[in-house]
Amino acid sequence: MALENLTNCPVCNSTESKLHKTVKDYTVSQEEFNIMQCKNCSFLYTNPRPTPDSLGAYYKSDDYISHTNKSNSPIHLIYKLARTQTLRWKYNLVKKSKPKLLLDYGCGTGHFLTYCKKKGLEVNGFEPDQQARLIAKQTLGESIFSSTTTIKSKFDVITLWHVLEHIPNLNEVVDWLKNHLAENGRLVIAVPNPNAYDAKMYDKYWAAYDVPRHLYHFTKKTLTKLADRHSFSVESIHPMKLDSFYVSLLSNKHKHNQTKPINSFLNGLKSNSYANKKMEYSSLIYVLKHTNV
Ligand SMILES: [Zn+2]
Repeated sequence: MALENLTNCPVCNSTESKLHKTVKDYTVSQEEFNIMQCKNCSFLYTNPRPTPDSLGAYYKSDDYISHTNKSNSPIHLIYKLARTQTLRWKYNLVKKSKPKLLLDYGCGTGHFLTYCKKKGLEVNGFEPDQQARLIAKQTLGESIFSSTTTIKSKFDVITLWHVLEHIPNLNEVVDWLKNHLAENGRLVIAVPNPNAYDAKMYDKYWAAYDVPRHLYHFTKKTLTKLADRHSFSVESIHPMKLDSFYVSLLSNKHKHNQTKPINSFLNGLKSNSYANKKMEYSSLIYVLKHTNV
């Protein structure tokens, strides 16, 4: 596979980095990738990484479920259950800023948009993956875009649910988001948290490293730094409490070749109880607004 090497930190541009961890792609290729840490700002990023053209091959797996609606294993069923439970909770978070027009950037098969539309929001979605986009279009029609260049509106809320860590041209896309967020708008970003207890516990087997699909591994510090670079401020941070259970199941599968449901459940609980004190949950949601608004 064609790889590219980043010479600069995507967050602070420093050329100085050190090896943080070597992690295997358990889901698709079984290849190993290095996660580097910027010596200046501590940002963790996968480097070298597949070129944008070769990244697509790393999404081709029956196990890679965010783009499909299959449900034939316990993990898929738990994932779907958690997703349904999470929809209402995500919507309640989004509606706090009383939005009218919402964009889900990387909307996948469109579950969140369908839910928001039912609640009366005007919704748009962007999804580059054709297979997922076609499913979203079946229920949401022309409001789903295949390219961002045709999107001209400014949105009251733009959501990225586990999307930012997948984007090769990170700063370009955050600039685009900046330009398409209304003056009083909110950018809602959910990403895994490598400072979570489950990340420390499973170490290189932690499923949310998900290399090379995850190009970045944001912490509270580095996400805040990226926001600052683009004149965004972090308004609030929220936990995703179900992710620790799902991630523990997958991590056990990587480590022991079985999901160990009871052990995963207990580790999920442990992770959440540890996180409670420090807001270091398995995944975190960041609500950003324009600085100086
Ligand atoms: Zn840096």
